Amino acid sequence: MKNLIILLLTIIIVSSCKNNYTEEQDEHINNFPVEVREIVREFLKEGKDRGHKLNIKKIHHIYLVDKITRAKYLEAGCYDHHDHSIYIDTTNFEWSALSGKEMLLYHELGHGLLHKKHDNILFKDGLNPASIMNCCTLPYWNEQTIYKRSYYIDQIFNENTLPPQWAM
Ligand SMILES: [Zn+2]
Repeated sequence: MKNLIILLLTIIIVSSCKNNYTEEQDEHINNFPVEVREIVREFLKEGKDRGHKLNIKKIHHIYLVDKITRAKYLEAGCYDHHDHSIYIDTTNFEWSALSGKEMLLYHELGHGLLHKKHDNILFKDGLNPASIMNCCTLPYWNEQTIYKRSYYIDQIFNENTLPPQWAM
């Protein structure tokens, strides 16, 4: 009986920890701009499906900046290591489509959550970047090339992902 009580208590503690973890993460995501929340949740899910337990609280905030503030942040997006925040320039062309929003955020989350640096290697075709951590060859995928998305997501979570057929 005593053992059963200990077992039940352990299960309750373990499951409440799990819930708190998820709830805390979710609460934190709700502080981000509404446009990015689902994309961030999707990134965490893609990571979880591949065995990564990511802590979104490491990203203190995501700022959407426009032309007025753009001078300070010249790139389409950046991850600022000083304030642990992501800045996205919403006047960037890529931001106008959902695939572009996802692509830009995934790159910055790669910096912030996966500690990735830029990887500017292209595939042998000389056109397609081998990673979404490529700094300058955009878009990695768009509405027309959505079939590329799954490779890039696999690759950001596993650098040993084999090159895809479409890049041969
Ligand atoms: Zn970058």
